Amino acid sequence: MVAGSVKTPEEAVARIAYLSSDVVISVQPTLSNASAFSAKLEELSSSRVKGTLTASNGVPEVQTVRQNADPLLSVFQPIRSGKLVSVAATSSILLSSIPHLYKLINYPVVIHVSLQPSEFPDYSEITSIRQTGLILLQSESTQEAQDMAIAAHGLAVKTGKAVVHFFASSSDDSEISNEDALLLGRALDRAAARTYQSGKIASTSLYADDGVVAQTSNSVASVAVGANGHASGLVTPASEASGIEPSSNGTSTADENSTRPSLTSISSLHDAIESRPISSDDIYKHASTIFEVIKQVTGRSYNVFEYTGPRNADVALFVFGSTTGLFRSAIRRTPGDDYSRVGVITARLYRPWFGTKLTEVIPKSISKIAVLEQIKKKTTKWGPLFLDLLTCLRTGPALKGAPVIVGHQLGFITPDTASQALRGVVQNLKSESPVQNLSVGLEDVPTNAGHNISQPAIEAAYMKILDQLFGKRLHIANSLDKPNAGISATITASPEYGYGSLLARIERRQAFIERVEKLAKSNDFTTRIPAEWISRWLLVTDDESKSAALVPGIIMRLSVDGSPAAYSLLSDKDLFYKESHWLIGSDAWSYDLGNSGVHHVIASGKDINMLVIDSQPYSEHAVADASRRKKDIGLYAMNFGNAFVASVAVYSSYTQVLHAMLEADKFDGPSVVVAYLPYNREDDSPLTVLQETKKAVDIGYWPLYRWNPRGDEKDEKKFSLDSERLKKELQEFLKRDNHLSQLVKRNPQFAANLSGSYGTEVRQQQKRKAKDAFDKLLEGLSGPPVTILFASDGGNAEGLAQRLGRRGKARGLKTLVLAMEDYPIEDLSTEENLVLITSTAGQGEFPQNGRNFWETVKNSTDLDLATISYTVFALGDSHYWPRKEDKHYYNKPGKDLDKRFADLGGNRLVDTGLGDDQDPDGYQTAYSEWEPKLWKALGVDNVDGFPDEPPPITNEDIKIASNFLRGTIAEGLKDESTGAISASDQQLTKFHGTYMQDDRDLRDERKAQGLEPAYSFMIRCRLPSGVATPEQWIKMDDISNEFGNQTMKLTTRQTFQFHGVIKRKLKSTMQAINKALMTTIAACGDVNRNVMCSSLPQYSAFHAQAHEAATRISNHLLPSTTAYHEIWLTDDDNNKVQVAGDAIVDHEPLYGPTYLPRKFKITIAIPPYNDTDVYAHDIGLIAIKGEDGKLSGFNLLAGGGMGVTHNNKKTYPRTGSMLGYAPLDKIHLVCEKIMLVQRDNGDRKNRKHARLKYTIDDMGVKVFKSKVEDLLTWKLEEARPFKFDSNIDTFGWQKDENGKNHFTFFIENGRIEDTPEFPMKTGLREIAKVHKGEFRLTGNQHLILSDVEDADLENMRDLMAKHKLDNVQFSGLRLSSSACVAFPTCGLAMAESERYLPVLISKLEGVLEESGLRHDSIVMRMTGCPNGCARPWLAEVAFVGKAYGAYNMYLGGGYHGQRLNKLYRSSIKEEEILEILKPLFKRYALERQDGERFGDFCIRIGMIKPTTEGKTFHDDVAEEDAEDGE
Ligand code: SF4
Repeated sequence: MVAGSVKTPEEAVARIAYLSSDVVISVQPTLSNASAFSAKLEELSSSRVKGTLTASNGVPEVQTVRQNADPLLSVFQPIRSGKLVSVAATSSILLSSIPHLYKLINYPVVIHVSLQPSEFPDYSEITSIRQTGLILLQSESTQEAQDMAIAAHGLAVKTGKAVVHFFASSSDDSEISNEDALLLGRALDRAAARTYQSGKIASTSLYADDGVVAQTSNSVASVAVGANGHASGLVTPASEASGIEPSSNGTSTADENSTRPSLTSISSLHDAIESRPISSDDIYKHASTIFEVIKQVTGRSYNVFEYTGPRNADVALFVFGSTTGLFRSAIRRTPGDDYSRVGVITARLYRPWFGTKLTEVIPKSISKIAVLEQIKKKTTKWGPLFLDLLTCLRTGPALKGAPVIVGHQLGFITPDTASQALRGVVQNLKSESPVQNLSVGLEDVPTNAGHNISQPAIEAAYMKILDQLFGKRLHIANSLDKPNAGISATITASPEYGYGSLLARIERRQAFIERVEKLAKSNDFTTRIPAEWISRWLLVTDDESKSAALVPGIIMRLSVDGSPAAYSLLSDKDLFYKESHWLIGSDAWSYDLGNSGVHHVIASGKDINMLVIDSQPYSEHAVADASRRKKDIGLYAMNFGNAFVASVAVYSSYTQVLHAMLEADKFDGPSVVVAYLPYNREDDSPLTVLQETKKAVDIGYWPLYRWNPRGDEKDEKKFSLDSERLKKELQEFLKRDNHLSQLVKRNPQFAANLSGSYGTEVRQQQKRKAKDAFDKLLEGLSGPPVTILFASDGGNAEGLAQRLGRRGKARGLKTLVLAMEDYPIEDLSTEENLVLITSTAGQGEFPQNGRNFWETVKNSTDLDLATISYTVFALGDSHYWPRKEDKHYYNKPGKDLDKRFADLGGNRLVDTGLGDDQDPDGYQTAYSEWEPKLWKALGVDNVDGFPDEPPPITNEDIKIASNFLRGTIAEGLKDESTGAISASDQQLTKFHGTYMQDDRDLRDERKAQGLEPAYSFMIRCRLPSGVATPEQWIKMDDISNEFGNQTMKLTTRQTFQFHGVIKRKLKSTMQAINKALMTTIAACGDVNRNVMCSSLPQYSAFHAQAHEAATRISNHLLPSTTAYHEIWLTDDDNNKVQVAGDAIVDHEPLYGPTYLPRKFKITIAIPPYNDTDVYAHDIGLIAIKGEDGKLSGFNLLAGGGMGVTHNNKKTYPRTGSMLGYAPLDKIHLVCEKIMLVQRDNGDRKNRKHARLKYTIDDMGVKVFKSKVEDLLTWKLEEARPFKFDSNIDTFGWQKDENGKNHFTFFIENGRIEDTPEFPMKTGLREIAKVHKGEFRLTGNQHLILSDVEDADLENMRDLMAKHKLDNVQFSGLRLSSSACVAFPTCGLAMAESERYLPVLISKLEGVLEESGLRHDSIVMRMTGCPNGCARPWLAEVAFVGKAYGAYNMYLGGGYHGQRLNKLYRSSIKEEEILEILKPLFKRYALERQDGERFGDFCIRIGMIKPTTEGKTFHDDVAEEDAEDGE
């Protein structure tokens, strides 16, 4: 029965390959870009269809390999272990695979090749491999492809030799049925296959043929058994031709040899003694036999050579191309006699070439044969087929009466042009002296890019850096965008080509130098001037910078000279530069190292630089076949000993790439820079590439290093490892032995494959050991065992589990508490009592440390939990998902667990407890009901007399016990066994200006590797008013490079923040910051933090006064503890430096030992600009001008604050309340008193209710004010009038009242970093080197270059232009936007922010442009969590992270920060965000009133209600809680 349908040749081939192999290598352009074979293979594989020949009748394995990752390398391992392997690929892999093809000829592998480009295939790849010894079979239609695929597999199994089946993918083919199972059964010799599968060939020889010889055994007759149980495969063919073509004839039908059963023959070293190597005759016989089987079963006739046409034809076309069918039908369709004596010949079996059989097929009447070869770029005068025919038909005895052979180049032909082409060929043939090498059809057709090599846009990153570094000196030999007449991109992109062309280039420059030398001595110039200039140049030709410096001058002089000599030099003016020669390659070069030009370049010793871009993602690497690991070009080159080698990754360290490229250029000799850029698809987002890169570098798969073999000679380091991991191992290794080839052996981490599997194994063993040890411990105890497993992100579920464990133990139970991920899951069914406690993450997902456990439990098919009793307690928030359709996320993990355990037969001890944050006591409410039930169910409810549990440690306890913020920080820093510090120290270091974080991009990967998270520290400086000197800027830049992650963040509190500082470097970083005359004390923590101040460039004098006030307040409120100095600024070895020991008792006159209940923030704004968001701080000071134009004092706002907790209506953002006015000289005292009232009245029990905003609301503004006035002993004055216009920055140049100039840079989200597109950090550093004024950081995370004198203006402008820093032409929306850090470093982040807001804005800019809003300022802010670092609740539109990819959307904030916004939608994703905002922006453009701001507009049109004060923030939200409506 034949069922199913097949639409394309690739589908047909994929099916046959799958059914006839153990392993199918599916070659794809990229892993995420399917090939024409992929879908079918995927379909069969996922339905677990069994193969016909698969060993033990299993399901064949489909391996996907990238096209540029040396796909045929994947064949060796399986084929050598006795598996039948086939490959499905396009012809583009063939040329680079030639070295493998030689090695594969004596293995029964089948390579199905779809010729490319599919519209107009080029057969030259096939002719290029004709000498490899492979069997080559061809097909043209879908039906033929199906039949020949079967023949190819039959032949491979039968002969033990490799078969390439090549075919053109024709678009107008009709659908066919699935192959006939009977045919498959009979064409594939099962017995021969089994013989092969039973033996293994363990050869890894480098030599061409592996020493394996395909053999045939003459003595053993083997008859394969077909699907019907009858003998098959070796069948007597039918007698005379009865094919489908009217007059077809072929050699096989007349071959008497095939009338007897054939002999088994299989490639095997284990064959019997009688065996002999397979001969081409054997191949011929087996092919004929298989064709005969096909004919018997299907009626379709195939032959080694096929002739169609009359037996009395006088001319014939021998077609080697994809249009045989078109020619045949054109002949058939043409009425009359024109073509009545024209035949068509094709080669079904192209190699081995059976010339004698061809003569048998061609009617004797034929006198001329046109050979039509579809080979696009001919490299020889006579085509390969032409020569084949000539050799067999016109040499030796055959010459007499042999037909004349006329070569043609076959171009692109369509059904419409086939007749015309045919006419041309036949006319040429029939002419008296036919023209040789005539072209038929179009030479060029539009083809898709599939066939051509093109450099993925993403790789432009490295090109840009080369460009920036070397500019005019850069010469890329194999640049793909350069025209190379007549040479295909495949060739020009190869290292060999590049190498050759660079050698030529080097020689050319040498000749040029000689020419210049001659001219310098001649009188050929009009004046002496050019000769003088070039003489100077001749002294420095080898010095890149000196020669480059002279070039513009020389060119200028030559241009005005006018002499022919000058012109001749000008025509080669590029050669005046000492070029930086580069060859650019892909990771494909890493596969063919031994055979390619890479080692020629290295071995040549020439001054050539190679940049090899490796794009294989690390995660892909993890699943890759270990035996096909790429050659490490870096290690290879290091072993060579004469090359500079660097391993870089632009998304990990831009600076290191710069260093490596510069050093490569400087190095006199070959340099190899291997560059990492992992991507799956060319359109991968930079964020994906960044995350992949980080993982690979962090884990040591891609270490960053530089190796200079001549380092020793210069007393420099030979090897520098620039990434963290492996540094120690490598350095130790290098100390012992500089022979890097040992590295892999001694440090298996270097070979990440090993490390991966080793890590997993160790992890499993650890789990088992821990559990076994615990089991042993329990043996002595009485009472039933209870295993408590938790999954916890925030710590609540873990805390509950631990407490439950302790309480259970006190009741005599044998309790074991483990994170789900640490539990050896194979023990599950042996548990007696199991308690599962889980919180809810993201959109109803499991917390990270429960995910694998859940996946295993969910997917397991053989878990039997009938003997275990279990219960679940879940923690969630029933209001987290207000929309009805999202409600089911509430406590989903817990509910899922309960259901799954019940389904697997578990007995429920107690019903699932559903902890809800919305209950009066949060999750405790449900928990206190659930726990007693559990004790009851376990029979331990009536146990008394166990001790009370100690209350949990609070932040207040930590502060009291810390001895004025010391804790155990100093000891923790010395502990090298971990990158972390203790939990209480983590709270205390905040007071010192540093937080512990971990890189969340790396969390999962490191966990999988059994490593602790990638801990690092964020350090925040204290910088009153955000003013820094240029020297300080440079030092900050140095610190970020040397100690941090090479970026700096300018924060919303106008200060520098560093990320990625590891514990080991923490102290040095603090010291470096102090050396820069900055500090970090009280930058975070429950104290007054950095005091901000408007950066206002226009009113510089006024700013100076305000700045002075800010500094005074900041200093006045600084904590007095000496712990900071003691911990960070003393030398470990020098006790004398220590200023405070035990003898000194600290005293905090303002704060006391417990400091403040919560953080405390002060800011100053100078009207009309509210650029520091004066309403958002605990104290907001509005600068008031006196009658003399100077700063007289401040209006005082108190009780502003941003942080809230999602869905906790007791928390809300608040704008400050106006308390009155205070004069300038007393302002620091007023701030102090406000702080003291908060110190003594703030809520120290509940940190969520501890900010000043709640104290004021609880107390009432009046009472609060009077308490402050009591402490002051005088009354505040009435607030003075003021007016704000906006809360954003003013970009570009401005002049202040003193005539000095200020430029506000746009620094997107405050991130100072270098990227290949925009090396901003380097640019700012260059500017800082010459700037004489100051830098001012703004509260919107931007930067002002302040106080530039007119005289320096031009220089500054030039510098800014050079570094592209003068661009402020962004949309109004972008200029008014701001985002917090969030991922990857912020531990609280629930969603992306800094990395995502720019992307979101780009997606909105189109609509803004269309609506004419490009220049309109709309304040948009985003934060990754409701902590609110970027002050989102004062923005006109804001997004606050709720879960990864999901945000709460707020609308209606006041334009100048005076009004809070309100929740508009919950948990929406990008699509919905765009759906809401795009039409809203359009509407705003059309319907706004004069001067109406977006936030006000949203309120006027009724989109959102205004929030009048913090307390009403949760009222009247646009999206009501679904439950309320139920
Ligand atoms: S708002 Fe939240 S996510 Fe963003 S930086 Fe602050 S704490 Fe982190």
